[in-house]
Parts: sequence; structure tokens; C-alpha cells
Amino acid sequence: MTATTNGIHHITAIAGDPQANLDFYVGVLGMRLVKRSVNQDVPDTYHLFYADAAGNPGTDLTFFPWPQLPPVKSGSGLWSEVYLGVAPGSIDYWGERLQAHESTGVVVGEVEARFGERVLPFRDPHGMPIALVEDELYGDFSFAPWDRSTVPPDKQIRSLAGVRLVERRAEPTTGFLQRAFGFDAVASDGRLQRYVVGEGKSGQRIDLVVDEDAPQGQWGVGAVHHVAWRAADDEAQAALRHAIAQAGGRPTPVIDRFWFKSVYVNEPGGALFEVATDGPGFTVDEAHDSLGESLVLPHWLEPKRSAIEAALPELSLPQAQR
Ligand code: ZN
Repeated sequence: MTATTNGIHHITAIAGDPQANLDFYVGVLGMRLVKRSVNQDVPDTYHLFYADAAGNPGTDLTFFPWPQLPPVKSGSGLWSEVYLGVAPGSIDYWGERLQAHESTGVVVGEVEARFGERVLPFRDPHGMPIALVEDELYGDFSFAPWDRSTVPPDKQIRSLAGVRLVERRAEPTTGFLQRAFGFDAVASDGRLQRYVVGEGKSGQRIDLVVDEDAPQGQWGVGAVHHVAWRAADDEAQAALRHAIAQAGGRPTPVIDRFWFKSVYVNEPGGALFEVATDGPGFTVDEAHDSLGESLVLPHWLEPKRSAIEAALPELSLPQAQR
């Protein structure tokens, strides 16, 4: 049997200024800061996690704020646009809301149709391409609306709906997607070739753009760093890890991130994938009500807490989450 994933677990991107990041994702997009931590490999850098009220897998967009980096060089072997899922009928609300917040640096595009769905593309204040998509959740997907959001519950961002990937050549990436993760090609719309797992609903999609002339992409501010895919438990993660190796990938060992366990692999074109377990989740080290309010460190960094805190810029939560 082919190993498969249920869909996206989380997406991690590179931001500029951390306060601008917080102000936009909490204050404007109305997401909840569910974890305030540091990059475990670079602990003088924040790692900020935004999600639904519960931090459910499939809702979590995270950032490393690295304002000293140059802007992303878009191109081959990089994830590009991130799709955020909203309920059908919400796009007009979002168009007005984003336009009212243009002072944050957000650049709002025109509503368009992709694969028969209404989509609103925009660039966040760090230049990252995002598209709001009116689409449907899949079978067991959980979304917990947040009652302290600046956005009404029925308009809130419900999911990481999908992601775009740019490659110079379709193969060998498409073969890897199929054999390692169980993605199948289902349709194309203009330059986009859609690959799906499961029911192909919100969070179960990769849109591939093949561009022979694309330069090699390079991480920078506004880049997607990696896309993590769901594994229900350790066993499902081991099966995916095995399938990745069978497909010619070189997965890392399992790394304990405490909120989930992670395996990383670069696909043949270079883009970074992760396989993350659904559990134990963000309430393993903080109470549900106070998620994101204080700095959480991995245990081996606790002895250095005061030096780490002193090196990090101060952050002030937007009114909505105080
Ligand atoms: Zn990750």
C-alpha cells in the first residue's frame, strides 16, 4: 500500500520584522498566536506560530523573523504562494478588510477564479505571496474558531488550503510526490497543475508550476521555508519516512519538536518537506487559555533563558489577543 498523508500539517516561512509579523497575522488576519518560541537551531531568533484557537494540525502558519536576510529570490525548487482557506462567501469581506489595512504594507490583488474556486491573492507585509481561497474542509478536519479574534468566527481563516511549488521540470518531482506521499495529478488551470491527496479538499493540494526558464530559487524574507505534511501518529510517520526513502529521498531521523515529531527531506528539485505527527500538540506545555502569551523554550535551552530573552526583541501583542 502507498503511504499517504491527510494533508498539510503546518507551513513555515521567513518573515522580516517580528512585530510587523505579529501585528499582521494576529491584528489583521485574526489568527491566534498559539506558540512563542525560538528557532531550535538559531535560538536568538523567534519562532512564531499562528493558528486556529486550538492550534489544530492543518491550521498552523509559522515564521522565523530574519529581517537581516535579503528578500526571497523566487524560482525553481521553492514553495511559493501559500493558500489560506476561508468559508465560501467570505472573499468580499476579506478584500475590504485587507484594503483597509494597506498601511501595514499588505498589497492586495484582484479576485480571480482558479479551479472553479474564488481566490484573492495578496502579498503580506514581508512580500510573501498568499491567496485566500473559498473552499471546503475534508472529512476529519477540525477548525476551532477563536473568540478573541478581530475577525468574526464565520470569516476566520480555517485552514492552510494548499501551496504552490515552482520547478524547471515536472519530473522527477512529480514522481517523488506520487511515490513518497501519494499525490496524484487531477487537473490543470492555466500554468497550474494540481496534485492532490485524499479528497483533494482544503489542505490536500499542491499546485505545480513548471517554468523551464526559472532561476534556482533562494530563501530570503518572504520565502516559504518548508511545508509539513500530516502523519496521524508515529507509525504513520515511519511508513511515510520509509516511502520517502523508497522513492529515492534521504529523510532525516525523527526529531522531537515536543509539540510534534518531525522528519525532513528535500524533494529532487530542492524544496523542503517535513512529515509531522498530529500530536501531542501545542497544549503539551501551556494551558489552552494562555497559549502564546509567554516564551516557551526547549528544555536544553532553559538554562540560557535569561540570555536568550535579553537577545530577542520585545514583542507586544495586538489588542485582540491581550
Ligand atoms: Zn516545520
